This record gives sequence, structure tokens and C-alpha cells, in this order.
Amino acid sequence: MQFVDLERQYKRIATKLNSRVLSVLGSQQYIMGPEVLELEEMLAEFVGVKHALTCSSGTDALQIALMTYNLKKSDAVYVPSFTFFASAESVTLAGASPIFVDSDEFTFNMSPSSLLAAIEKTLAEGNLTPRGIMPVDLFGQPADYTELQEIADRYGLFILEDACQSFGAQYQRKRVGGLMGCAAATSFFPAKPLGCYGDGGAVFTDNDELAEVMRSIRIHGQGKDKYDNQRIGINGRLDTLQAAVLLEKLAIFEEELESRNRIAFMYTQALCEHFETPVVSSDRSSAWAQYTLKARDKEQRKQIIEYLRAQGIPTAVYYPIPIHLSTAYAHLGYFRGDLPVCESLSDRVFSIPLHPYLSEEELHTITQTLKASIQ
Ligand SMILES: *Cc1c(COP(=O)(O)O)cnc(C)c1O
Repeated sequence: MQFVDLERQYKRIATKLNSRVLSVLGSQQYIMGPEVLELEEMLAEFVGVKHALTCSSGTDALQIALMTYNLKKSDAVYVPSFTFFASAESVTLAGASPIFVDSDEFTFNMSPSSLLAAIEKTLAEGNLTPRGIMPVDLFGQPADYTELQEIADRYGLFILEDACQSFGAQYQRKRVGGLMGCAAATSFFPAKPLGCYGDGGAVFTDNDELAEVMRSIRIHGQGKDKYDNQRIGINGRLDTLQAAVLLEKLAIFEEELESRNRIAFMYTQALCEHFETPVVSSDRSSAWAQYTLKARDKEQRKQIIEYLRAQGIPTAVYYPIPIHLSTAYAHLGYFRGDLPVCESLSDRVFSIPLHPYLSEEELHTITQTLKASIQ
């Protein structure tokens, strides 16, 4: 059994996908070919946003968006600690200082009350200036944008949505991507809900000015002309080949989202009396990048994972080390105990296979084995 079965998906779309890819190979328009523009139009329409700009990865998408704010080391950007490393890394790469925020135990997302406390602490210490908030839609579920926007407004901060795991999810009936008139970044890494066959990503916004600056940063800070460099940018384009792959995958994406939701629903029905199953707030939907359970403690998690592995069922731990305790950020001086919910989640969570092509038989095997593992 695969954790994410990309082969079944490929088999389904192979004929169309191969012909699209071959046509790019024959066209020699490998960089910014017509497929890139076509994809950007489709993405903007799907999300319901004015501007969708594709780029080279989710990490680069975050960085491109952050670079529009001309950040300095004395600028604080608030990020959850319980997320993929790139969320914080992009803040550092953009020249600012990440400040880590605790998570909600049930939704796994940034806790607004922990965010408030962190902002007040920054202001009281007086070394850094609060500038922005980077919520992450962890495992596919949008963060608490209404509450976060209130906090952002109160302190005059920007919001950049890390939607790298939540492409396709909805918040109050709107698709993630520029939800609050701000910018959002997503990833097309192969294992994400919408993935290509390499690295890829996109930024979204309704804001024309922000879109123009991001477009420039994506290609070496270019202005109207290729050699009119207006600012420092990056080499952040999406390959035409990857755009061709994504066009075929986007065509079946809505259906795949429905499958993900159906499978998540069946998992919860089968497991909720035996495990702490994931909670999705009633005003939003998840793209189900991961289906994540919580064991009682680290020891029980180890037992469950080993029991499943012996039966041929793969699991994954996202994320075993909260970023505030990572070696890379040791110099910031965080200690165990600083963000207790993140730390407890890192010890207890584990994710089980969830992809649109998981059969009911496989699902049954997984849930039965899980239940047996805690007998
Ligand atoms: C995957 C991911 C990223 C980075 O995306 P890449 O395309 O791998 O660079 C950033 N943030 C989160 C939350 C992610 O899951």
C-alpha cells in the first residue's frame, strides 16, 4: 500500500497527460510557454481571485509574496511552529525575523490567543516591530481568518496565507487564496492535493498592486522589459512542462477533492470512538492533504506505527519537531515548554494514507488494523 498513490492517478490521465507533455517537448517553449498562461487563467478562475501567478515551488511562492513587503531583520512575522519548515524559512529568507506561535489542539492551526500574546510580548520587549502574520492551513484546513484578520487590523499587520496544503479548501464558501484581500501561496509538490511532476507553486491575490510586484519579483525584479530590472527578485518561474501536467490534473481536481472528503468522512465514522480524529470547523472545508490522528503519547504512537508497518500500512509523522525547537532556529533561544500545544502535538500526531484513489477495501483494512493496534 502507498501513502500517496500517484500511480493510480497517472494511469487515469496518462493518455491526455502524455500528449500534453509531448506537445511541450515539441514546441521548444520550455520557459513561460503558452501552457503557463493557460494554467494561470484556470487557477484564477478556480480560486475565484483576480491574479494567479505560477512559480517554482511553494517555498518560492511564500518568499515572492514576503519580498513585496521589503522586510528587515527588525521586522517580526508571526508563524506557527507546528508546520513544515519552509513556512518559517521563507520569513528568514525574506530578511525578517520569525516569531513562533502556538497551535490549536483540535484544528492544528495557529491559535489566535497565542498570536495575541506573542504580539504583545514583542511590543513589550521593544526590539522588533510586528509586521505580518503567516497563518498555515495545516493538513488542508483553512486557519481562523476572521479572528486573525481582526488582530491584523488592530496592529496594522499584513496576512500572508500559507495555503501550501489547502489548495481547493473553502473558508466561509470561498476558496482559499487571497481570502482577505491579501496574498496566498500554494505548492504543487507531487504529494500535495494538487501536485505536478516536480516542484511548483503559485501565489494568488485580488490586489492589483501586490500582483504587479510579485510578477516582477518572480523574474529577477523585471519591469516592462526583461533587462529593465526594478528591484531584487528571484528566478522563480514554473516550467512549461509542469504547467502542462497541472492543466490535466486540474481538470479532475474537483472530483478528487470530493473523493478526499468522502474518504475522510468514512475514516472519522470508523475511528472517532477509538481515536482523537481531526476536527474541521463548520464554516470551512478541508482539502485533506493529510488525515491526522493523535495517539495518547509518544510511546503509544510508536506502538501504533510499528503495528501498522508490520501489516504493510504506511504512516507518516508531520511534524516530529516543532520549528521553534529545530537546530536551525536554536539561536532564537526558545525552550521546550514555550509552546506546549505544538510540542505535545509533535509527540502525538501521526497521519494515515489518504488520497483520492484509496479503495474502500484498503480503507477497511486500515481502520481495522488501527483499532487492533490499540487493543
Ligand atoms: C509543502 C509546504 C511548503 C513548501 O512547498 P514546496 O513546494 O515544497 O516548496 C510550505 N509550507 C507548507 C505548510 C507546506 O506544506
